[in-house]
Amino acid sequence: MIYRYAKRMLTETDKRILWKIAINFGLKGMLSVQKFKKRLKKDIYFPPFLFMSIINSCQLRCQGCWVDVSSKQTLIEIDDLNRIVNDAKKHGNSYFGILGGEPFMHPNLFDLLEAHPDCYFQIFTNGQLITDEVAARLRKVGNATILISIEGNEVISDERRGQLDVLNKTLVGLENCRRHKLVIGVATSVCQTNIELVSESWLNRLIEMGVHYVWFHTYRVVGPDPSEHLALTPQQVLDVRKFIVEMRAKLPIAIVDAYWDDKGEALCPMTTGISHHIGPGGHVEPCPIIQFATEDIHTNESIYKTMTESAFLNDFRKTAAEATQGCIVLERPDLVEELVQRHSAGDTTQRQTALEELRKLQPRSSQHNPEHQFPEEHWVYRFAKKHWYFGFGAYT
Ligand code: SF4
Repeated sequence: MIYRYAKRMLTETDKRILWKIAINFGLKGMLSVQKFKKRLKKDIYFPPFLFMSIINSCQLRCQGCWVDVSSKQTLIEIDDLNRIVNDAKKHGNSYFGILGGEPFMHPNLFDLLEAHPDCYFQIFTNGQLITDEVAARLRKVGNATILISIEGNEVISDERRGQLDVLNKTLVGLENCRRHKLVIGVATSVCQTNIELVSESWLNRLIEMGVHYVWFHTYRVVGPDPSEHLALTPQQVLDVRKFIVEMRAKLPIAIVDAYWDDKGEALCPMTTGISHHIGPGGHVEPCPIIQFATEDIHTNESIYKTMTESAFLNDFRKTAAEATQGCIVLERPDLVEELVQRHSAGDTTQRQTALEELRKLQPRSSQHNPEHQFPEEHWVYRFAKKHWYFGFGAYT
């Protein structure tokens, strides 16, 4: 698998882009996790992987989306984005996850990428705004990978995303990325209506389309339209995990996950402290679906100071670690409410219904299934997770 994958990356992507992902994401990413581990020894928590939803606006209306996509536009101004990135860089960070809404609707997205050639950005997008010009500009700047969300076939995509002709428009964006030799990923929020995408034939289809990695999220029952009927059963979550482990050792496409370590034990990126989130309103949130905060990007000049001193984030990590190795939002929404009350955390949404939504959530299982665990089969994933992606002591 390794040789075939290396051959794909060397022949399908722009060499300068490949160098940037190897150094700015691979090498510097690993060093940022080493720095994170060092800080943990002094009980200092600053995530090496910062996720920022830079704008709320989006042209789609997806089931299960927690972002106020149809509300008045809010965005993080470019000066604040640069301030956050510069401060995080001072503490060894180089990777930044860029979310929305739809990030390509932010007027200064390219100013951000161009201002930080020494960093690496993963842009979570529906791909529909990636024209030939945009793809050419991404190739020129070279420090961003495009993670395009595909939620099913034509019919399912329109149903899930609340617009028409969604898949075809997205595939046009993907093809523009392929033609400009970008590093391309496809993300799917796996649920009842698209679980057939968790298949070898779909992965081979993606390889044909020039996709270099996939990320199978498991559907989160949250937001103003949680669509509970889409949630996966515990057995289906296990099947997804088993499939991921098997395909990693078989196909020349990388498979990302954020929920399991090398032994197949569950973890939550928020609880371990390896990632936290900044919302489109600038609020400092435990993770994207926990829309409550006690601080924002203006609390201090330094985002490092704000996050390392946040009692809310600290208590959230500790309480979640004591409760589960899975998702506290899915398994214990009652504890999330307790934390919100304990810290008088504010609702960060424009719709101001996050607490009401939380109270309506029925506890359900998540990625934590201690009776059934699938350790990594392929040595590359085993090695990488063993050293740079595990529980970091949160669950001991
Ligand atoms: S709380 Fe749930 S959604 Fe948030 S990072 Fe943890 S597992 Fe993921």
